[in-house]
Amino acid sequence: MTKIAIMGAMEEEIEPLLAHFDNVNIVEFANNKYYEVSYKGVEIVIAYSKIGKVFASLTAATMIEKFECDTLLFSGVAGGINPKLKIGDLIIADKLCQHDLDITAFGHPNGFVPGGSVFVETSEKLRTIAKDVAKENELNVIEGTIATGDQFVHSSERKDFIESTFKADALEMEGASVAVVCDSLNVPFFVLRAISDSADGGADIDFDEFLKSSAINSANYMIKIVDKLID
Ligand code: SAH
Repeated sequence: MTKIAIMGAMEEEIEPLLAHFDNVNIVEFANNKYYEVSYKGVEIVIAYSKIGKVFASLTAATMIEKFECDTLLFSGVAGGINPKLKIGDLIIADKLCQHDLDITAFGHPNGFVPGGSVFVETSEKLRTIAKDVAKENELNVIEGTIATGDQFVHSSERKDFIESTFKADALEMEGASVAVVCDSLNVPFFVLRAISDSADGGADIDFDEFLKSSAINSANYMIKIVDKLID
């Protein structure tokens, strides 16, 4: 590993990451800012993509192809589905899917298109490191499925559909698209989220209240993972 990408979707998700580094060099590209830092002898590029699968794919591909990152880590917030996940709690994705990808009219399963697969798995090595870090720091972290779609989910109906169709533990709007990009380009990746809301009625209120504190939870854990990774 020579160069690490760390991305979020929103500014609030990368601010607490950037706070850990000095001497940040900003590179502007494709209507976005990429923050380059050197940390303990390793090059790191940090960026927030903007919300949704398209922007997230652009940023992930840019970090890999233009900035030549060979490991990609995502840190941010998500809506919780698994009742064990309370606001502020951490989940690492073992696999991700696109809950809004739908050509079921042709007999395909939800989340599937020809040439792809319903689920994309994250790097087992990165997950193992994350779990070791959680153990050492006595952090309670759930490993599970994250479902991604271009919609803020704030109804029990949609949440139940995602739960029953994909057995997902949490949902958000970027992870699975980043997974497809990294998997296609053979770059090991990892998605970490802290819960900001429970994706049902009132999710928008909880999200506004807990975005910052949950984003900090995710970022602080992510920095510890990076420390272990480059150790
Ligand atoms: N308040 C923001 C919009 C936030 S969209 C604005 O007005 O600009 C929600 C973001 O947090 C997305 O990046 C998504 O990945 C994540 N997220 C958290 N809870 C979510 C939920 N219930 N449904 C979908 N995405 C969620």
